[in-house]
Amino acid sequence: MFETLSDRLSSVFTSLRGKGRLSEEDINTTAREIRLALLEADVALPVVRTFIARIKERARGTEVSKALNPAQQVIKIVNEELVEILGGQTRDIRYAKTPPTVIMLAGLQGSGKTTLAGKLARWLVAERNTPLLVAADLQRPNAVTQLQVLGERAEVPVFSPEPGNGVGDPVAVARESVEYARRQNHNVVIIDTAGRLGVDEEMMRQAADIRDAVSPDEILFVVDAMIGQDAVTTAEAFRDGVGYDAVALTKLDGDARGGAALSVRHVTDRPIMFASTGEKLDDFDLFHPDRMASRILD
Ligand code: GDP
Repeated sequence: MFETLSDRLSSVFTSLRGKGRLSEEDINTTAREIRLALLEADVALPVVRTFIARIKERARGTEVSKALNPAQQVIKIVNEELVEILGGQTRDIRYAKTPPTVIMLAGLQGSGKTTLAGKLARWLVAERNTPLLVAADLQRPNAVTQLQVLGERAEVPVFSPEPGNGVGDPVAVARESVEYARRQNHNVVIIDTAGRLGVDEEMMRQAADIRDAVSPDEILFVVDAMIGQDAVTTAEAFRDGVGYDAVALTKLDGDARGGAALSVRHVTDRPIMFASTGEKLDDFDLFHPDRMASRILD
């Protein structure tokens, strides 16, 4: 098992017990342990630095209270700062005033985009919406079929290219899907777009063309929690090439220590809206900064 932040800190905290006040040395020792734990969890260095500076500043200014011992106090500060750095609040979808609300997914191939489209559709149904899935990933041979299978499982219709319906032209498919949704009273449209294994210009251009054709209410950047430090370049490329309003973080089940969420939030400077935690349709929810903070700490 991995050593959690709490495990690491407990030895430091034992020595803090019984003290009336945190000394400079106590704060430094604690900060060092937190720094190591975060680096081991593959959190990007600038994030670690910012975080440690904030913890130190707050710990120094803290009067030791009667209710909490120094160890509990540090845990409380670390927890509060983690929630803050993870975005503070849960961010829900901003629905369009006039339906349909158009949600476009963008991200690398293999990031879990198509799976996420199915999960999001299912989640939206549970929230009493009437979504339409749109197969605008015409690059990957299997993507359309994969989305149809997911749509069937989620009991959500899939709009896909047919002969005479813009075969091979994802921009036309996306545009027509919004018209179709309006006619059929689907209040949310989820557009799955093509990704490549690496960032490439053509993929970006296509995503930007789809964006311009449908003016999405939300563009979600789908990113794999396991991608580690590569998240930085990918996030920057998508920000410059397409732009996005929020992030959907996938494969969190593979990131036992929860470091990815911290890095991704910092690197994208956008709220993490959804968290995907497995291959099943139900392994999905809004991202809760407080729950993620507890997972990192516990
Ligand atoms: P796309 O190329 O971005 O559309 O990616 P896919 O949706 O096809 O997903 C790529 C692979 O990752 C598939 O094998 C999925 O089953 C898997 N996958 C997607 N989301 C998750 C997740 O949250 N956790 C795990 N463990 N696997 C996932």
